[in-house]
Amino acid sequence: MPFEVTATRKRPQTFEQLAGQHFVAATLTASLEQGRIAHAYLFSGPRGCGKTSTARILAKALNCEHGPTPHPCGSCPSCLAISSGSSLDVIEIDGASNTSVDNIRQIKDEVLFAPHTGRYKIYIIDEVHMLSMSAFNALLKTIEEPPPYIVFIFATTEPQKVPATIKSRCQQFNFRLVPTDTIFQLLTQTAAESGIEAEEEALLWIAREAAGSVRDAYTLFDQIAAFSGTKITAQNIRDTLGLVGIDRLNELFRAIVSNNSKEAFGVLDDILERGVSPEQFLIDAVDYCRSILLMLHGVQKQGLLSAPRNAFEPLVVESLSKDQIEYTIALLLDTYRHLKETIEPRYELELTVAKLCNIRSYISPRELFEAVHSLKKALNAKELSPREAAQKDASLPFQSRPADSSTTHYAPLLHDVHPRDKNSPQYTEQMQLADDSPEPAATKVDSASAGHVSPSELRKKIITKLRNQNLFLASALEKSAEWISNHQGFIIPATNRVELDLITRFAPLIAEIGAQILGTPCTIEARLAKDRESSAFRPSQDERIHSAHPSREPLHEPPASNDSNGERRKTPDQNAGQTFDHEPLGTDSFGMSALAEEIENTEEFHNSGDDEPSRHVASSPPQELPEIDLRAIELVRKMFKGKVIATYPPTETSPSPSSAPQQPSSSVADASEYLEDIEPTEEFEDGDEDDF
Ligand SMILES: [Zn+2]
Repeated sequence: MPFEVTATRKRPQTFEQLAGQHFVAATLTASLEQGRIAHAYLFSGPRGCGKTSTARILAKALNCEHGPTPHPCGSCPSCLAISSGSSLDVIEIDGASNTSVDNIRQIKDEVLFAPHTGRYKIYIIDEVHMLSMSAFNALLKTIEEPPPYIVFIFATTEPQKVPATIKSRCQQFNFRLVPTDTIFQLLTQTAAESGIEAEEEALLWIAREAAGSVRDAYTLFDQIAAFSGTKITAQNIRDTLGLVGIDRLNELFRAIVSNNSKEAFGVLDDILERGVSPEQFLIDAVDYCRSILLMLHGVQKQGLLSAPRNAFEPLVVESLSKDQIEYTIALLLDTYRHLKETIEPRYELELTVAKLCNIRSYISPRELFEAVHSLKKALNAKELSPREAAQKDASLPFQSRPADSSTTHYAPLLHDVHPRDKNSPQYTEQMQLADDSPEPAATKVDSASAGHVSPSELRKKIITKLRNQNLFLASALEKSAEWISNHQGFIIPATNRVELDLITRFAPLIAEIGAQILGTPCTIEARLAKDRESSAFRPSQDERIHSAHPSREPLHEPPASNDSNGERRKTPDQNAGQTFDHEPLGTDSFGMSALAEEIENTEEFHNSGDDEPSRHVASSPPQELPEIDLRAIELVRKMFKGKVIATYPPTETSPSPSSAPQQPSSSVADASEYLEDIEPTEEFEDGDEDDF
């Protein structure tokens, strides 16, 4: 028996077998049951989704010896003749090669003769949009008032090219792309019928590659079955078709999120060595990242993801924020666009991989604005708090004041935030001295060996304690979502990455206060709260526990001190800063010391231009901005110094085009440069007011 291609063998023979076109099948079934047969039907939709098959099923339904019936028997002479294409009453015409008016005139003459054996004479015209305008016009009269035994079925992939005069005389059915899940099931079934063992990943790949066309899926399946024999594996497909597998991509992206550029280059080299083309590499990498993006947005649907959900490296999925993965995709797509014009595609890929190795330090414009926003809030809160107002001198660091005399005011801010030396008695003492909070309960519990304290109670107490020591940290904790207790301590879901980093940075301090309150050792872990489902909060290998940031770039470089202000910087404040001796200043990401020094140097920062004199002075924010905005922007500028922000894609909160840096959409800008151009927008101001 000759080989029959799967697409032909598996062609649906009844409405029930029609995959993914329930609406069409149900409507046609109902109209057949009620005997409402139209003169003309127009089936539109993408290729390979069942239009011609439906037309043949409809022809059988009309001409079956037991019909008209929605369930043609498939075994009577009429059904058999239609299935084999030999029925004299079902005329299939390819519209693409019979476009002229003469062809249509021939049809017009033929329709006058009654059907040979069947009940109806059925014309199936495929690709009907290819007919010439005069041919369409010749057809008009015929399809409007044909003899009662005539039925026209037109099929087209481009319904917009069919004249409205024709459409209005037809019952129109829109066929849809067949869902990947459905195609996957059909392929699984086909493989089982053919006695072929096939891996799920392999069939899923075929189903996705078919992009909604069942015929394409079967054709590809036949092709792969031809070189795979009785066992279809994803590895086999990759090797033969030169694709990058999810294992290699997991390996590559694991290296990328770990900032291990050496390993990342190694994996990339290995992939290219195996004969994967640069284009294919980018296509597969984009597909991989897109799946992660969808997962981060909570998409569970198998058919949308490039591989089964559990095939993706958890470290990669959990390490990247939505903004970072969006930026990664944008960068990969951009590389793809440049590939044609480059001197060597490989260099482009290596450059992209090198850039991606810093992906975890990317800050999106949105995050930048959130940081400015929350700092503004913190500054405002500080100024508005009546209790603080009483001690204005000590607590309003941002107030205009002579730079020389101000430095000691920062002592409280810096002094008590020493997370490092947990055993220092001095530390505990300071903590308790600083705690003049109006919540006596907290102090009581400190010494008692406290029993169960709920996460929310603990959170409240810790925030109260911190409010006087570290306003920014307290504010970040206040905004955090409900704390989750785990076996040893608590997970704090931070609302954004800036706050996540701040909380992470001070996790030891929080843990220390927590331990005092609980009377037992306590660990604190910070996680990003947004849209991470509860599963993401399970304890993991994520290194964001306590303050371990081995790979983080130094954020804060001490400003050049060879200017006239150099001497003045050696102040008590600096000395206080030195007690951070367990952690070098360079890793003080988002730390209070950086902030405090920035505050300390604000005056000279504005006046002298500091380390990048000319550029900064030239483009510093206009002086007519509210003081609070200037302060917040300057603080954030310092916080993000050395970080790189993604300017793609533009977000709603990004500045108006006129004030945004004019750069290619995918380029990166140093955060500090970017901030120089920030002007708080109207929404920003409004948002602020709403918060109070
Ligand atoms: Zn029949």
